[in-house]
Amino acid sequence: MSTADVLVIGGGLHGLSSALHLARDGADVTVLEGEFVGRHASGASAAGVRTLGRDPREMPLALRSMEMWHQIGDLVSDDCGFHAHGQLRVFETEAQIAAETRRIAELEAHGHTNEQIIGQDTLRQLVPGINPKFIGAAYADRDGAADPHRTLVAFRAAAERAGVRIVEGAPVCRLSEQRGAWRVETAQGAFAAPTVINAAGAWGARVAAMTGESIPLSAKASMMMVTERLTQTIRPVVSIVGRSLSFKQSSQGTLVLGGGIQGRYDLDSGRTAMDFHALARGAAAAEELMPAVKGARIARCWSGIEGKTSDLLPVICPGKAAGIFHIFGFSGHGFQLVPAAGEAMAGMVTTGVVPEIFLPFNAERLTTKGAAA
Ligand SMILES: Cc1cc2nc3c(=O)[nH]c(=O)nc-3n(C[C@H](O)[C@H](O)[C@H](O)COP(=O)(O)OP(=O)(O)OC[C@H]3O[C@@H](n4cnc5c(N)ncnc54)[C@H](O)[C@@H]3O)c2cc1C
Repeated sequence: MSTADVLVIGGGLHGLSSALHLARDGADVTVLEGEFVGRHASGASAAGVRTLGRDPREMPLALRSMEMWHQIGDLVSDDCGFHAHGQLRVFETEAQIAAETRRIAELEAHGHTNEQIIGQDTLRQLVPGINPKFIGAAYADRDGAADPHRTLVAFRAAAERAGVRIVEGAPVCRLSEQRGAWRVETAQGAFAAPTVINAAGAWGARVAAMTGESIPLSAKASMMMVTERLTQTIRPVVSIVGRSLSFKQSSQGTLVLGGGIQGRYDLDSGRTAMDFHALARGAAAAEELMPAVKGARIARCWSGIEGKTSDLLPVICPGKAAGIFHIFGFSGHGFQLVPAAGEAMAGMVTTGVVPEIFLPFNAERLTTKGAAA
């Protein structure tokens, strides 16, 4: 049986980031991935690096992550294709301006100055060609986007350089505790360690159940579309208040469209199916935002399965059983949190103390008992 200090279940970005930080702190870490690194949400991600519009409970973690994204080369020796061209959430009514202004004032009252309201002139300078019906936006100028595949390659390589062993094609099917060590059985044999991190994404609740813990979790299958190359240059990532659209132009000129339009998924097979009617609604919203893109051809589309909690915040906490730690359920916006969540997870595993930035993410809040307390 192969042994380690820490076994990480799941080779998505959160498993890799936790593994990387722990290995840098001197731990012997093995990542057990059921399929291949980046197979699910992390490989399908739109890779938006966004503090804009975050739940205030996520802000301390998101702001720490944003600092790290601006220095990401120091962590993984690659820029991960990250560009801070800003993110915008546009609105079209006075009522939306009033609501967004109130939301941003509340953020500022908590000391967060990452967002500002901009008017139509600045909006047109930032997004030439935008439909004039959009009269302003909430704008986070330090936000941006990265390249998801480059990010995966960089985190994997950095983790391996730090000594992390990655075993792919090793779905975990059973966990049992024996004299202070966890025995983890996979299709490639058994592994043992005193500490196990459950970073199994949409399957996080299934892995938790293997330790005897029940955590409510559902899933979603967000879809993405990419068009042929266009000449027009839009630098920020743009979304519309109240709609499922995120719109960005890659450095190659293609438009990358997403924002939460949903396909179908099956957790047992790990497969998704596209909903072309929903995709068409997403494409129509993109045309409404930028009339000039009408008629652009969609070159390909895909979707990815992601764990979703009832309050759309992740589960990041120690498990009920000693030696177990959970990090899953990012509900469609976990890419931005990758650097800081791994850093804080390593600290939590090493010290046994739950850091303040993880306090809103305990699993207890999702159970009937926790919600009633
Ligand atoms: C289409 C799409 C667009 C997105 N866009 C954005 C965005 O713009 N910005 C943003 O911040 N976030 C975005 N997200 C969300 C973000 O990508 C995810 O929150 C993040 O990648 C989750 O990473 P993870 O490591 O938790 O999960 P995953 O990447 O899903 O990794 C979990 C891994 O666990 C493995 N696994 C599961 N069960 C087992 C088992 N029993 N044994 C071994 N391995 C197992 C799986 O095979 C998988 O590889 C998007 C997600 C999708 C799907």
